[in-house]
Amino acid sequence: MYLTDEQDMIRKLARDIAKEKIAPHAKHVDETGEFPWENIKVLAKNGLFGIHVPEEYGGTGADMVSHVLVIEEVAAACASTSVALSTQALAIAPFLIGANEEQKVRYVTPLARGEVLGSFGITEPGAGSDVSGLRTTACRDRAGYVLNGRKIFITNAGESEIYVIVARTSEHRTRGVSLFIVEKGTPGLFFGKKEDKMGIRGSATREVMLEDVWVPEENLLGGEGNGFKILMEVFNETRPVVGAQALGIAKGAFEYALQYVKERKQFGKRIFDFQMVQAMLSDMAMQIEASRLLVYKAAQMIDRNDKEVAPYSSMAKCYASDTAMKVTTDAVQLLGGYGYIKEYPVERMMRDAKITQIYEGTNQIQRLIIAKHLLEDKKLQLS
Ligand SMILES: Cc1cc2nc3c(=O)[nH]c(=O)nc-3n(C[C@H](O)[C@H](O)[C@H](O)COP(=O)(O)OP(=O)(O)OC[C@H]3O[C@@H](n4cnc5c(N)ncnc54)[C@H](O)[C@@H]3O)c2cc1C
Repeated sequence: MYLTDEQDMIRKLARDIAKEKIAPHAKHVDETGEFPWENIKVLAKNGLFGIHVPEEYGGTGADMVSHVLVIEEVAAACASTSVALSTQALAIAPFLIGANEEQKVRYVTPLARGEVLGSFGITEPGAGSDVSGLRTTACRDRAGYVLNGRKIFITNAGESEIYVIVARTSEHRTRGVSLFIVEKGTPGLFFGKKEDKMGIRGSATREVMLEDVWVPEENLLGGEGNGFKILMEVFNETRPVVGAQALGIAKGAFEYALQYVKERKQFGKRIFDFQMVQAMLSDMAMQIEASRLLVYKAAQMIDRNDKEVAPYSSMAKCYASDTAMKVTTDAVQLLGGYGYIKEYPVERMMRDAKITQIYEGTNQIQRLIIAKHLLEDKKLQLS
């Protein structure tokens, strides 16, 4: 795809940093589960945290295409680090969509500069795919609200300073949903232990408990009852970002496997020379390129403020993450026994790929969204 000079420059910057500063620590981050603060500092120093955030709120002011390019490059080196970046985008998005000027200046600026991390608390024990089933409550009290409930699987929780919490202000399934800003250190806000995960092991995933957490009225984001609508708009913007993460993981595994099959010999030849291996590599290359086009297309639609982006964001996320799972599994296969050994990075990449099919809406949910648009006979721009 054609990239502008600015997009190309940002990609090169991200690629250089990812290869030189981030990739060398990826194995360590995976093995120890240490939160990759050093990588985060490097990305923040180079202005890569707020790529898609306007300059007046501390960002770089670049477009969404530039943002997905950065995520792709970082994910190819270390998926755990890319999750910190993509979650920051998830935390910033509700502010850019629904916050007032004062909230944007106060909260987006430090997030966009990477000075602090943010988290978005949506999921609950009884509300995963069905967000409208959430039970966390926010009740009016003393010129503010009191929040009670429990959020699970919250990325960056414990490490983040700023939390956007989705809570119920009335019983209406969608119009009773509101968003609240809760700062770390607020009395009654507690974190669970770090979850022991299959992949993205450096990323911190914890429960967030809210026990009589009082926040002032100013911490209501986007007005009472508007939370569900904002949430859906947020997902339209963040699903291509998860698609880019999946694309990066697939690219990282493919590049490693390609190099390997060109060097490894069996039956007196490079394994690259076997046609069955070539067919696998060609399929992998095609699927990666198709994912890339879908991710960039959704990003371009966001840049154009195209209101029909929802099914394309779902396609980008769903196809790229299915591709990441397939390509990383095939990369392990192409390395034979070595692929199954932790010394080689494709094993880590295969574990890291799996989450991209699950979070930000599972891939079944993405297929439901695409089908809903087909049912409504909305004109999909399929060319
Ligand atoms: C590492 C990690 C990080 C995460 N980070 C965050 C975060 O930062 N913030 C946050 O709020 N959440 C986060 N999540 C939660 C994540 O978004 C949810 O786990 C996900 O949306 C699925 O919800 P669930 O786990 O409750 O699964 P369920 O909704 O219980 O789904 C279980 C299975 O049923 C299928 N299913 C459910 N409904 C349907 C349907 N209608 N049709 C077909 N199939 C269906 C699903 O696709 C899935 O296969 C994270 C999760 C993980 C594991």
